[in-house]
Amino acid sequence: MPSNEIIVVGGGLVGAAIAYGAAKTGAAVTLLDQGDIAHRASRGNFGLVWLQSKGAGFPRYARWSRDAVDHWGPLARELLDLTGVDVDLQQNGGFWIGFSEQEVAERRALLAAIDTDGRTPFEMLNHQELKARLPEIGPRVVGGSWCHLDGHVNPLKLLHALHAGLKLHGGRVFNGVDVHEVGADQGARRFQARSADGRVWRADRIVLAAGLSNDKLASQLGLHAPVLANRGQVLITERLKKFLPYPTNKARQTAEGTVQLGFSVEDVGLDDGTTVAAIEWIARRAVMTFPLLSSVKLVRAWGALRVMTPDGAPIYQESPAFPGAFIATSHSGVSLAGAHAYEIGPWIAGVQPAPDDVGQFAGERFLDPNRKFNNAH
Ligand SMILES: Cc1cc2nc3c(=O)[nH]c(=O)nc-3n(C[C@H](O)[C@H](O)[C@H](O)COP(=O)(O)OP(=O)(O)OC[C@H]3O[C@@H](n4cnc5c(N)ncnc54)[C@H](O)[C@@H]3O)c2cc1C
Repeated sequence: MPSNEIIVVGGGLVGAAIAYGAAKTGAAVTLLDQGDIAHRASRGNFGLVWLQSKGAGFPRYARWSRDAVDHWGPLARELLDLTGVDVDLQQNGGFWIGFSEQEVAERRALLAAIDTDGRTPFEMLNHQELKARLPEIGPRVVGGSWCHLDGHVNPLKLLHALHAGLKLHGGRVFNGVDVHEVGADQGARRFQARSADGRVWRADRIVLAAGLSNDKLASQLGLHAPVLANRGQVLITERLKKFLPYPTNKARQTAEGTVQLGFSVEDVGLDDGTTVAAIEWIARRAVMTFPLLSSVKLVRAWGALRVMTPDGAPIYQESPAFPGAFIATSHSGVSLAGAHAYEIGPWIAGVQPAPDDVGQFAGERFLDPNRKFNNAH
């Protein structure tokens, strides 16, 4: 039976995809979003739909990522048909670019370790092989890796389409709602979310998908979500004639012709500003990759905060103490949007079983003193 009412706290890419997927099954979804005061990775990301390098040391996450990229084509078509929004999905493969033999060797070892079941396929390419597919690469590019399942989208259009689709499926969206308290009533049959200005919403189920706020909200429902901010700075150029047929981890050309250049990885707390040092580093690296970029104009630079768990993998969990309360957070909200819409949303709505082995994504894994975590990939 679908659950009648679900509150989703957080209207970024994770919350919106789950809310959309739940509403599509017939659930009455209320999405509460903090709005403009919030840190929102969903509005500042790089837009890659990326499989290669996901799931090092975590085979269930590698399999989850593969299923998610397989969902992408149907999701893009469905959103276009339903909302009229084309999210500009291009999923014909993507490249990681390396500048030294050592970097390329490490990449090969990493990808080989992930691809234990043949479902995260990759190919390593030397300079000449890369040049045949990306003619504009510069002489300092040593080699790279390729995965034919990778791609990119316009993440802002994706966010817009998910919100539009949610509303078309009867979902209600409240903006400017800063949820401070979440809890269950007696008997834990109903959940409530209370905003800073005292408004209260109640429902049978609740999902915490509030990005960096999940850390403080989780404990109120017996959950553990140690997410930390990690800043990425991104640059964008003026529109250029099409020269880049595939996305890469250093640059991608959008459907409009601008080139997005990425990205820094910085541990600076909640500071989402930009710095001259990072902008210079990103620009230099982009020019080393594609020398033709040396003469183009940059039109904008921004910083945005990643929502990062200690191992870089998602947390999905129903609260053992408060069944009906869920948490979802992921550092790959673009790549995993299909899994959130087609697997997590229907699970939370009660119409589909939990994804198999979902327990592996529980936040308690970070409490194990014998485990060491690395979110560098
Ligand atoms: C520079 C950069 C590059 C990235 N590149 C990629 C990429 O190429 N591919 C990819 O897959 N992922 C990428 N990501 C990650 C991706 O953007 C995130 O995984 C995704 O945006 C996370 O979505 P979210 O909804 O969990 O969090 P957010 O986008 O941060 O959204 C959280 C939402 O919750 C709301 N909220 C917060 N607190 C409250 C509260 N108390 N009450 C109510 N609402 C609240 C906010 O208003 C916000 O809308 C990148 C991120 C960054 C920063």
